[in-house]
Amino acid sequence: GILDNKVALVTGAGSGIGLAIAGSYAKEGAKVIVSDINEEHGKQAVEKIKSDGGEASFVKADTSKAEEVEALIKSTVEIYGRLDIACNNAGIGGEQKLTGEYGLDSWRKVLNVNLDGVFYGCKYQLEQMEKNGGGVIVNIASIHGTVAAPLSSAYTASKHAVVGLTKNIGAEYGQKNIRCNAVGPAYIETPLLESASGDMKEALVAKHPMGRLGTSQEVAELVLFLSSDKASFMTGGYYLVDGGYTAV
Ligand code: NAD
Repeated sequence: GILDNKVALVTGAGSGIGLAIAGSYAKEGAKVIVSDINEEHGKQAVEKIKSDGGEASFVKADTSKAEEVEALIKSTVEIYGRLDIACNNAGIGGEQKLTGEYGLDSWRKVLNVNLDGVFYGCKYQLEQMEKNGGGVIVNIASIHGTVAAPLSSAYTASKHAVVGLTKNIGAEYGQKNIRCNAVGPAYIETPLLESASGDMKEALVAKHPMGRLGTSQEVAELVLFLSSDKASFMTGGYYLVDGGYTAV
């Protein structure tokens, strides 16, 4: 596969988009560290990858805690000897309220997972990749890294910030053989959206010119490309996989 002999790490890999990314990495030959805050789902993901003939191990980590992310990178190197590819995917939607009514705790919680968590990931991954002599990072942002999500200010702010963080890493590490890009999916059929009512889902579908939501696999294909040597001249970028959402 295109990732033969690579060691890859995916956070939030127990469900949805992260699960599809971990599966795609493994299918292309990478040894995969499946990380999640949810141990049961993470272990199930590892079993699935192994039963499909791939190699994976589970390491539990809450990405909103710097010391757990630092330990996760350490465990990755202990288990597979190095770190070549990291996908910072773990994220939450958060409370839905007008900005003037948004709870202070809700705001902190979303920023803590969606922004601090991605920063912690990048920080310790970059440190390790410099030791390796190179690497690739893909941060999962959202279309809300560039357009509003009414009633979800914390989410929109966190995803815009992830795009900015990604650009900075691209600018800083261009000559260190480390690439870093962000991905902007529109609405994807995952457990994150399961709580949405039928009406809400229909309204969401209507915002996509393609007339449907995306699949986790459609996001994983882009992440796989960006993670591979095929994307060798791509860094600091923000790439949409949005069924046309942001075009209208
Ligand atoms: P999901 O809820 O299906 O999966 C998220 C996973 O992350 C879960 O397994 C959860 O346990 C884990 N997680 C949550 N908080 C964590 C933490 N603090 N530490 C470690 N793991 C944690 O969600 P998804 O839809 O697959 O979303 C994955 C990413 O994609 C998120 O960053 C999300 O913002 C982004 N995204 C999703 C959509 C969508 O429509 N589903 C669209 C654009 C972007």
